[in-house]
Amino acid sequence: MNYFSSNFKLGILGGGQLGKMLLYNTRKFDIYTCVLDPSNEAPSKIACDEFYQGDLMDYETVYNFGKKVNTLTIEIENVNIEALKALEKEGINVYPSAKTLESIQNKAKQKLFYVDHNLPTSNFSRYAYKDEILTAIKHETLDFPFVWKSAQFGYDGNGVKIVRSHSDLDDLPNVECITEELVPFKNELAVIVARNVKGHVKVFPVVEMEFHPEANQVEYVICPARISEEVAKKAEFIALKTSAAFEHVGLLAVEMFQTQDDEILINEVAPRPHNSGHQTIEANYTSQFEQHIRAILDLPLGSTANKVGGIMVNLVGAEGHTGEVFYENIETIMEMDGVTPHIYGKKQTRPFRKMGHVTIVHEDINEARKIAQEVKQKIKVISK
Ligand code: ADP
Repeated sequence: MNYFSSNFKLGILGGGQLGKMLLYNTRKFDIYTCVLDPSNEAPSKIACDEFYQGDLMDYETVYNFGKKVNTLTIEIENVNIEALKALEKEGINVYPSAKTLESIQNKAKQKLFYVDHNLPTSNFSRYAYKDEILTAIKHETLDFPFVWKSAQFGYDGNGVKIVRSHSDLDDLPNVECITEELVPFKNELAVIVARNVKGHVKVFPVVEMEFHPEANQVEYVICPARISEEVAKKAEFIALKTSAAFEHVGLLAVEMFQTQDDEILINEVAPRPHNSGHQTIEANYTSQFEQHIRAILDLPLGSTANKVGGIMVNLVGAEGHTGEVFYENIETIMEMDGVTPHIYGKKQTRPFRKMGHVTIVHEDINEARKIAQEVKQKIKVISK
């Protein structure tokens, strides 16, 4: 199949920043694209060939959109799976497949998948309603502390809560959920695996994630991770095993915990470009976005090696600021060597909203980490 400067059409469900960064690469290759997103101001709108506004969870909307394209991919997991199944039956290539998405969309199903495939993950229990948690605590089958996770529709930490006492349960919604053992981890790591239609696989170097203590959002992504060769090998091995179990096509980002005794536990996976791979745009031979396009079109996968050390700092809306966005001191950080801001194109900021990111590249990762901290202290996402 010829994708380059041809009649081939690639559809993307979701038009957020991940979609926008995928589109830099379809532009590079001159591949025709269609995007569906609920917002008429989606970041991807300016970079695709055809834009459609519509609900990603609605069967008809997703089905009708999918019928317009040859290959369909996603940049968000919350899409109508039944529509994807119907499209697959009619010969549209859907990557990741409906089956992969189905095992991932619901966190309870995702945890069961790990157990079924003998993949290491923290112990957990499933509950249909919040009341069942209260009963489990009463009967002492569940002890504090634990981590509560909404089974569906959580993202960027908003469907996750560490529960240490009864009072922490008060504002949890009454929805299907899981509880997990609280892992006292040393590090949070992530590995992105790319797998093309033929099943060829390439793995990106392990990254280390530093989280914001309150917002539960990643503050720094550091690549290569400052961990031993042995732990890196283990993380890579488990990511590859996870990839083989899912048989996904496209990227699979595997988020993991490094425990106190250097075991690796899988936290969760995402079958798409991921926040932990943004630095690959500047720091690696092939970016995660280009690699996703290569994988879903069954093209040769590119080298995943780092050209240089890379750190990503998320640009999130400052607390106390809601309204039209202004990037304070953006020019100051642009004066620094190896610093590149990415602005997603969301016009309105609100506390902790992901508005962009900054990549810092340097030969020495410890030096890069120092610069990253300076960047973080200088640039502020505020309202005008
Ligand atoms: P989301 O899908 O919103 O990204 P995650 O499942 O990745 O949610 O959880 C968000 C963060 O919460 C994790 O990155 C980690 O810092 C913390 N967390 C999640 N599960 C556990 C756990 N079992 N033990 C300790 N911390 C956890």
